[in-house]
Amino acid sequence: MKSCACFSCGGEFPDIEWPVHRYMKSAPGCWAVYGEVLAREYSNPDYSEIHRLTVDAYAVQHPGYRDRQSIHSVGVHLIRLCLFLEHGLTAEDANDVMLEAGKNKHTFTWLAPPRSLGNITAADVAKATSVAEHKELVRAWAQSAWDAWAIHQHTIRLWLPATRAVTVDAGKVAR
Ligand SMILES: [Zn+2]
Repeated sequence: MKSCACFSCGGEFPDIEWPVHRYMKSAPGCWAVYGEVLAREYSNPDYSEIHRLTVDAYAVQHPGYRDRQSIHSVGVHLIRLCLFLEHGLTAEDANDVMLEAGKNKHTFTWLAPPRSLGNITAADVAKATSVAEHKELVRAWAQSAWDAWAIHQHTIRLWLPATRAVTVDAGKVAR
């Protein structure tokens, strides 16, 4: 099957006709492959620990255009990546803090997407042949997507709410 690069994440995907998301703009094949990755994760509870990283990595690699919904989406998903990767929060805590941060989403501003959104995409995760490999790829994907937004990480840290979870876990920052 013919393939084409997604204009947003840069991954190689089947060149197909397929619906795309309303504001997480992507090539049709990219959205279809992401759907397969999600279906795999929903099919087995062993994936639950990395599922949110998948959602966050995909969202920040497909920032869409400068409208309120895109600004909110990129903001909350970058916030959750920051909580996972820099503060080591559990999925549940990260979600609570993200919801708290979301209350201020009207103050979020458009962050001009970097030229490259990371070297790993949904296409790489889709190729995993075991649960362990899938999880490892998702962790690398999330880290690579977060690193890609380096120029805006300072802004994201300012958007973190000053809650106990963030303050306490800030000591666990590994890098
Ligand atoms: Zn894409």
